[in-house]
Amino acid sequence: MKLIDWPLLFVAENLADGFDARRFRVLISELERRGMSFRELHDPAQLLETCWTRRNIVGAVVDWCGGNIAEKEKQILALKGKFPELPVYIMTENASAEELSTALLSVIDGYLYLDEDSIPFMAGRIEDATRKYVERLYPPFFKELMEYVEDYKYPWHTPGHMGGEGFLKSPTGVAFYRFFGENMMRSDISVSVPELGSLLDHSGVLRVSEDNAAKTFRADRTYYVLNGTSTSNQIVWKSQVTAGDFALVDRNCHKSIHYAMVNTGAVPVYMKPRRNAWGIIGPVRLQEFSRRAGLEKLAAAGRKPKDDEFFTMSVLTNSTYDGLCYNIALIHNELREHVRYLHFDEAWFAYAAFHPLYQHFYGMTDEVDVESYPPVFVTQSTHKLLTAFSQASMIHIKNGSEEAIIDDEFNEAFMMYSSTSPNYPMIASLDVATGMMKADGLQMSEDNIREAITLRCRMRAIERELEEKGCWFFSMWQPQFVEQKGETVDFADADADLLLEDQQAWILKSGESWHGFADIEEDFILLDPIKLTFLTPGFSAEGKYEPRGIPAAIVTDYLMEKGVVVEKTDTYSFLILHSFGTTRGKHGELLTSLFAFKADYDKNTPLELAIPRLSVKNSRYRGMGLRDLCDVMHRFYCVNNFLAVMDEAFSSLPPQAMIPAEASACVVRKEVEYVRLQNLAGRVPAVMVVPYPPGIPVLMGGERLTEDNLAILRYLQLLEILENRFPGYAREIHGVESDEVQGRILYRLLCVVEEPVEAEDEIP
Ligand SMILES: *Cc1c(COP(=O)(O)O)cnc(C)c1O
Repeated sequence: MKLIDWPLLFVAENLADGFDARRFRVLISELERRGMSFRELHDPAQLLETCWTRRNIVGAVVDWCGGNIAEKEKQILALKGKFPELPVYIMTENASAEELSTALLSVIDGYLYLDEDSIPFMAGRIEDATRKYVERLYPPFFKELMEYVEDYKYPWHTPGHMGGEGFLKSPTGVAFYRFFGENMMRSDISVSVPELGSLLDHSGVLRVSEDNAAKTFRADRTYYVLNGTSTSNQIVWKSQVTAGDFALVDRNCHKSIHYAMVNTGAVPVYMKPRRNAWGIIGPVRLQEFSRRAGLEKLAAAGRKPKDDEFFTMSVLTNSTYDGLCYNIALIHNELREHVRYLHFDEAWFAYAAFHPLYQHFYGMTDEVDVESYPPVFVTQSTHKLLTAFSQASMIHIKNGSEEAIIDDEFNEAFMMYSSTSPNYPMIASLDVATGMMKADGLQMSEDNIREAITLRCRMRAIERELEEKGCWFFSMWQPQFVEQKGETVDFADADADLLLEDQQAWILKSGESWHGFADIEEDFILLDPIKLTFLTPGFSAEGKYEPRGIPAAIVTDYLMEKGVVVEKTDTYSFLILHSFGTTRGKHGELLTSLFAFKADYDKNTPLELAIPRLSVKNSRYRGMGLRDLCDVMHRFYCVNNFLAVMDEAFSSLPPQAMIPAEASACVVRKEVEYVRLQNLAGRVPAVMVVPYPPGIPVLMGGERLTEDNLAILRYLQLLEILENRFPGYAREIHGVESDEVQGRILYRLLCVVEEPVEAEDEIP
């Protein structure tokens, strides 16, 4: 392990002559001889901040011979409070240990007596401690991979580029090699390297890494998956569900769940999430998890439960896209009697186990009754909000009271969906994401949540200030008031540190109107502070269109022009995510851009200046101003009662003409045809229809669009009109093809071809 890249911080007001400078210089050169490097810090008040922002610093040596000792003590205590593992040494000429405060004595890692210890002794101690600290930074798989790569072996195995050499035979390859760098090439190795264990057998150091992840994420067993949670979900279902099994499925599920049903032949019944007036997807009602509700759903679908555990699998998206998380203990209590395996799709929620704010609200929570729990599967996109590379995902399993999940059996499903040539840098990124969370997860989460809360408070403060002046601004979807120290305070004045520790402040309460869900259950749903939903003017919490309306799509289009890219855009709301990669500068940029939008809107700035991309492409927008566009689109939404139609469309659950697997079989057998919207009534789409946003299926493959569900048709028609009327603002719809016919965009859907039902011969 090379120490040169891991500097030590020397903290002294005056390193030239504040103390025994000559001996100090000798110590430095001795450490340099041993391959170590340094940074100097002359202002002790910057100690915590420096170590916090530069996490490559692997220790601090603090001059105790003079200067502001009180400040140094304060800084060291703060530093060790935040990073307890980071070594801190005190360097002194004569202070004996007894003179230090007990608080300090209990946290520091050692003293260097400049006038008593020999230089090689002091240097040796520092080197030894630093090396131990640095070694611990490398999680098992990454460490082994790095050491393997640093050995410079001659590969005679795949991949064919053989450690990158293959790229150098063509200038195109050279460009690629230069861009990604030598280490990436040399880490891309084949499964024939025994030192690194095997992903498919879960053996060797790879298994050590998976076990480390299990412990870190509170699972009994963790599997690394390299094709996203899309594949993790398939694996989980394929491992337990067979054709004809009943499943209890959150209608707000990712498309991979639909495909899991196709591939297993599961028979789904759905739990319907609430929605509020803005169209934000809310939680499923607690009562929908009950045994009785399950029986009713099956009965309504004309299905008979075979036994007591009549659902083989249940699946719930936790948290929702908009950051609503469920109290898992409550759900568990409802499900445990009639569902054999619980699955929580936590694609966006891998950080939950690392901060007490989320206690009870994530699938691997330890809080549930261990004696009586069914096996729980949690799937997480480690790449989405932790730091793994794209596609890197994990399956976590809590085995339940009966140890029901057998490794080898489960691995059959795992292998069915896994490449036999896994990508090693991607595995290393899972290993490193785990290592980071294990060592710094709490700290990183805390910093991230605090920053997000600060932005929330700031937004509210700006809104309030402008409100007082009679001006409009964007608002946040969050409680308007919180209880702090026995008082009710406006969110703008709330103390961020208190909010960070106060789970209750983030729990949705039935008496509050801000969230728009009238019948929310007690202690059931938590709003995750790091998922920030901004509301644009135009629509009130009571579900009324306001005279002024600013469709969110125009705002986010404008923001994009300014280099601010949001996560998701809804009709009158948009979502941004706060993650470990968010920096303070980003807040400033976002706020400035929102103010710029406001100014351009208020001035009705011509679109070719406000959103050049838009008006260059579409002559339709020529001569319009930013406010004009907002007005026209807002009117479109009002006149067509868009949000109400959307709400109705998603509220209906159309009858199942066939299960998803049968509908998919129709596609394979080519018993399908394209149908335009005007002919869609009465038909059965063969594939699911999922508009983004909100990303919930309005129709699953195999469901029939009946007279009772015409709102779905109306909603699709509105989306078609929207796309024609507002080029550039089309919503992406999975399962819908659009093509241009005589200058108009028309939708078509792949539907099942059904045999005409023959009229029964009348018996005379
Ligand atoms: C993104 C997502 C997935 C799929 O995850 P990938 O890692 O992108 O394959 C699954 N479920 C939900 C809820 C998601 O949001």
